[in-house]
Amino acid sequence: MMTSTELRKTFLNFFQKKGHKIISSSSLVPADPTSLFTSAGMQQFVPFLSGEVEPPYKCACSVQKCLRVNDIDEVGDKTHHTFFEMMGNWSFGDYFKEGAIDFALEFLVDVLGFKKDQFWVSVFAGERGIAKDKEAIKIWQSRGIPKERICEFGMQDNFWGPVINIGPCGPCSEILYDFTGKPCGKGKNCVPDCQCGRFVELWNLVFMEYNKNEKGEYEKLAKQNIDTGIGFERLLAILQETPSNYETDLFFPVIEEIEKLSAKKYEDSIKSFRILADHLRAVNFIISAGVLPSNTDRGYVLRMLLRRIIRHSRVLNLPQNWYVKPIKKISEIYGSQYPEVRTKQTDILLVIQKEEEKFSKTLERGIRQFEKLLRVKSKEPRAKSISGKDAFDLFQSYGFPLELTKEMAKEKEFEVDEQGFKTALKEHRETSKKGAQKKFGGVGIEQLTSEEDRKKATCLHTATHLLHAGLREILGGQVRQTGSDITPERLRFDFSYERAITPEEIQKIENWVNEKIKQNLEVKKQEMSYQEALNSGSLAFFKEKYPKIVNVYTFEDKNGKVISKEVCAGPHIKASSEMGHFKILKEESAGAGIRRIKAIIE
Ligand code: ATP
Ligand code: MG
Repeated sequence: MMTSTELRKTFLNFFQKKGHKIISSSSLVPADPTSLFTSAGMQQFVPFLSGEVEPPYKCACSVQKCLRVNDIDEVGDKTHHTFFEMMGNWSFGDYFKEGAIDFALEFLVDVLGFKKDQFWVSVFAGERGIAKDKEAIKIWQSRGIPKERICEFGMQDNFWGPVINIGPCGPCSEILYDFTGKPCGKGKNCVPDCQCGRFVELWNLVFMEYNKNEKGEYEKLAKQNIDTGIGFERLLAILQETPSNYETDLFFPVIEEIEKLSAKKYEDSIKSFRILADHLRAVNFIISAGVLPSNTDRGYVLRMLLRRIIRHSRVLNLPQNWYVKPIKKISEIYGSQYPEVRTKQTDILLVIQKEEEKFSKTLERGIRQFEKLLRVKSKEPRAKSISGKDAFDLFQSYGFPLELTKEMAKEKEFEVDEQGFKTALKEHRETSKKGAQKKFGGVGIEQLTSEEDRKKATCLHTATHLLHAGLREILGGQVRQTGSDITPERLRFDFSYERAITPEEIQKIENWVNEKIKQNLEVKKQEMSYQEALNSGSLAFFKEKYPKIVNVYTFEDKNGKVISKEVCAGPHIKASSEMGHFKILKEESAGAGIRRIKAIIE
């Protein structure tokens, strides 16, 4: 039987032999600040796929850590997770449809030993003036997939992109695994979109052959790319012949640990066991990527997952500190592939413990309130719905994230007015926190409660400017900020650079920044229009949306020489000597052509 570790290796080795460069997984927290989490293998290659950056290699492959919050309602079924790994291969202007299909079949059939008749495929049927993908149909047929097992679907299922309104996009072709080999007999037509569970989508091959232009027309691209993604856990479950992804060697040891601590059996409470195993793994990876629970953005997602974990642990009657052993198991399972889950184990346990302390006080009261609500609602005629205001009260008074209320409601066949919840939340934010929009580096100022934390984050924010300037000084002017995130504990800075920074360079950058801090630079703040700011030579972080009037921060030395000049919304200290000693803790890759630095003020 193939283990999970062997499967990753087998995949990467296969594509390496076919001329692909092995690229390691980028962080779950992407360099691109417009998305919260990495959700597909292609994300780190977007600059190559869009043609913005010339790729340094023609073909690549990877096993990528992904997180999809959108799939949370599906978790508990056999094949969907929040966190999962996606394996994939890419061609940047090299091979196209034929190559992608041949590689996929060779890997599945010749390497893994499947038979071709265990697969079905889907292709693009043509829609909105874009032609049917006859080429793909022809290739599949010529490779021995009969036309009875080639299904055609429209835009919704078999066309990818563009990411925004314009840009590269194209038809895709999915490879589906057929578990039973025979129709379910329930519906008329048991084909890949049948909900009976006969099929699972395994591998998506995207053929990027069009560019959607401003007029909304699809024009053929001169340089065509391939982007593919296989669900690692799904393929593993098929290879290990398990009833679902949860009985594979990635999950089952964790489920067994939980079972030992619970009076309930996996078979009897499958959903809660699966949700716990899935969410525990997800929070492991989110926390090890440096995220902490909060009420906004990534921190919110983490908090929401933790609170769902806590509730399901009550469903299974798990004792205090039950999560220690399962977390240790997760770290054994993933430690060699992703060392961060091992090195961050103490942090992970601490974060769970703290959140549990916080939430357990209100959880029981919240559940009682929720049950009371349902009793009242059940008496109302045709009311199988919880209002947005009630859902918001559960959030505000008892700390129930919307997703948790939704899940509990669904168990009792109730719905939640999500739009109403969002409206109530928005109104609340607008009235009670005037400064709620003032964000710096993803942390709402109002979330930093203590004065001390506020001061620390302000120093780190100021240090970020010096770091950026130092990087440009030591490494060169091609360094550009691509992202930044600040907590009271540390700063994280992403920037464009093509290779790892050497220890000597790190030392030089650190020294440069510390020297500037010691010189007690003056930090000047000026307000001007965005255009004026650009004209005056300030650096702006191009992916950010700036207001019309912006703040420009200038750092000047004693002789009036400008060290750094940047558009920025964050809070800053007045003079650099208010800061302590600057130290770089870590330098790593955050995606193709992007480096990430984590640093602290001691
Ligand atoms: P599905 O329709 O099954 O949700 P998808 O169309 O969202 O899949 P893609 O975006 O094409 O999937 O992702 C590529 C592959 O990643 C899929 O073929 C599947 O094997 C895997 N995958 C996608 N979402 C998940 C998930 N939530 N958990 C586990 N694997 C997933
Ligand atoms: Mg999906």
